[in-house]
Amino acid sequence: MSHSASAVTAGIDLGGTGTRIVIRGESGTINTRTLPTAYFTQLSQSQRSEALAFQVRELIPTGMELLSLGIGASGPVDTDAGVITNKDTLACFSFFPLVDELHQHLKVKVSMDNDAVAAVLGEYAFGAGIGSKRLLMVTLGTGIGVALLENGRPFRTGNGQHPEAGHIPISGNQTPCYCGLHGCWETLASRSWLQQNLEALLPGISFEKNNVSFYSDIAAQRQDVAALFHRYGSYLGRGLVTLLTLYGPDLTILSGSAAHYYPLFRSGLDESLRRSEAYAVNTLIVPSKLGDIAGALGATVIPSLD
Ligand SMILES: [Zn+2]
Repeated sequence: MSHSASAVTAGIDLGGTGTRIVIRGESGTINTRTLPTAYFTQLSQSQRSEALAFQVRELIPTGMELLSLGIGASGPVDTDAGVITNKDTLACFSFFPLVDELHQHLKVKVSMDNDAVAAVLGEYAFGAGIGSKRLLMVTLGTGIGVALLENGRPFRTGNGQHPEAGHIPISGNQTPCYCGLHGCWETLASRSWLQQNLEALLPGISFEKNNVSFYSDIAAQRQDVAALFHRYGSYLGRGLVTLLTLYGPDLTILSGSAAHYYPLFRSGLDESLRRSEAYAVNTLIVPSKLGDIAGALGATVIPSLD
């Protein structure tokens, strides 16, 4: 089939808070919309895929033809069955055949993967990762998300999942993690850790309401704040050095809300990645170029993978 200039692909980034839809044409994004995921929660289960299909269709300009839909979903996904299995943060789209139902409504190929995989596909195809042969992406949010591409194809574990590297234990610290282990990377290096510890040091501040220059001004005055960012970077580096050692990516992309603070935690990160020359790891680290839209844009690529 030859694709006319009016052919478009759709991508959905399905998160616990927001559902972002993107329509892409040959020359770029044509339309985008973000809805609160709570909008779908109030519908009955049998109406949810229909409502999602309706939202996609509404964003496609008249005369344009939809070729495929890709979905990047938060949390565990059974990619073969096309079913989300995230009872914790995406219950309303879990445990029913979402991919099959969307296929019935839209009559095009529908494929789904984890949102971390979708985001790294977005950076690889359209953002900071173009041309990378082995691309690692680390997303610093409520937890730590990790995804790896080899020549544009997602690395998968033996059971088809992406690696849950946020649960690599990096410390003898007895902080319990919900996964059942102690001292997991994400209990010490997620945005949540940085936020909690900054808010403890600076009572009355609201982490999300401030930016890099706000904190760098404070860090210039207060040694304890500068040291906190340094410590955060060093925790981040302890997990990252494991991944760099095992996978040897040619590029690492940092994304998520804590990645903005790279200039402040870089010293700690560099310190924990530094090795003697013979054992050096590739420390080429860049920030995400697409930001929040990476997942939905990358989702448009998912159907072309299989
Ligand atoms: Zn854990």
